[in-house]
Amino acid sequence: TEQLSNFGKRLALDSGIGELMRDLGDALAAGDGNICMLGGGQPSHIPAIDELWQRRLQEIASDPKQTARVLGDYDPPAGDAAFRKAVAAFFSRQYGWPITMENVAVTAGGQTAFFLLLNAIAGRCEGQPDRKVLLPISPEYIGYADQSVSSDFFQATKPLIEETGDHEFKYGIDFDALTIDDSVAAMCLSRPTNPSSNVISDEELSRLIDIAKQADVPLIVDNAYGLPFPGAIFGDAIPQFDPSMVLTYSLSKMGLPGTRTGIVIAAPKVIERLSSMNAISSLANNNLGQAITRPLFESDQMATLSRDVIRPYYRQRAEQARQWLTESIDADVPFRIHRCEGAFFLWLWLPGLPITSQELYERLKRRKVLVISGHHFFFGLEDDQWQHRNECLRLSYTTDPDVLKRGLKILGEEINSLYRVA
Ligand code: PLP
Repeated sequence: TEQLSNFGKRLALDSGIGELMRDLGDALAAGDGNICMLGGGQPSHIPAIDELWQRRLQEIASDPKQTARVLGDYDPPAGDAAFRKAVAAFFSRQYGWPITMENVAVTAGGQTAFFLLLNAIAGRCEGQPDRKVLLPISPEYIGYADQSVSSDFFQATKPLIEETGDHEFKYGIDFDALTIDDSVAAMCLSRPTNPSSNVISDEELSRLIDIAKQADVPLIVDNAYGLPFPGAIFGDAIPQFDPSMVLTYSLSKMGLPGTRTGIVIAAPKVIERLSSMNAISSLANNNLGQAITRPLFESDQMATLSRDVIRPYYRQRAEQARQWLTESIDADVPFRIHRCEGAFFLWLWLPGLPITSQELYERLKRRKVLVISGHHFFFGLEDDQWQHRNECLRLSYTTDPDVLKRGLKILGEEINSLYRVA
């Protein structure tokens, strides 16, 4: 490691997200049909959606001019102008936002958008204290955790926990605990939240916007699962845009993760900076996702498909998964599932769990059920004695229903035996 720079030491060695992606990838590559994969953020293969992408590919492939354009041309670093225009017009029609292509940039997936944005805003800063990214609520997406190239920059806020019924709970933002000092350079959250499936309310979002504006820091909202596409929000929620905000989107959860296409909506100055970072780090982005989806932005199908096909699909899957999980755990085990508000996950809380969630993960892995231990998602929190951090699991329900049912049954057996002994 002596040969590595600070950048190298932070990015070229092991990381939580790296280990996770490898673990999941290895399990899939082993081709062991008995593995229950409840781990990744993989979207489901929804037949109507997969067919649509296939049709779009065929349309492009059957037109030599389009094919040459998509495969043979570099894009400008902020993305294809026609695509950026189509996206801006789409959001203006959907929500009345006064934006143009100057407010839109394309990145290599939402993950890269965050890498560039967070490092441009926070971290080590000449002659100043290290600049922080405030997470107004924790747990939060593990993919952010290791992204800093300079200093650990996350400062997370513990959530409020509302327990409802026998087996449900919901997180809320603890505004009293939210401290913004001069070192905070940005706030960020995912809505819906990966891992908890929480959707912070319209009122909470409005308050955050006000707080961010008052502190003169950007509020970055990650809409990877959100509105208007793929629309994996099961109740009502209203998206908001303000020039002080940075909104990120992705084609991945629409079923196009292989195209690596992220979209950022922000003030023109932010877009120019992203464009510059794109040029330096990668020259240009992948054209394919833009080419496949542009007509769907132009016809508003990105929104209608999300509303009429994708959202009902995941809502039904979530409810089914919740039912199976509830049936598989003994009723006297004090388990709680986060209210299922969106994204692709159940977030299971096991108060008083006799072992850590990581140990439970290991046990499940031995039984060929892959989940994600919740502790990964509590980065940036000061309180490392907080029991809750080691009592949660993230369970993805996007896999085949038979596999999911089997995995949840095994999970229930493990949990029941742990609480019986205790
Ligand atoms: N944000 C959230 C909350 C995610 O869950 C993910 C992927 O799982 C991403 C961003 C990044 O996705 P991509 O880089 O494929 O757009």
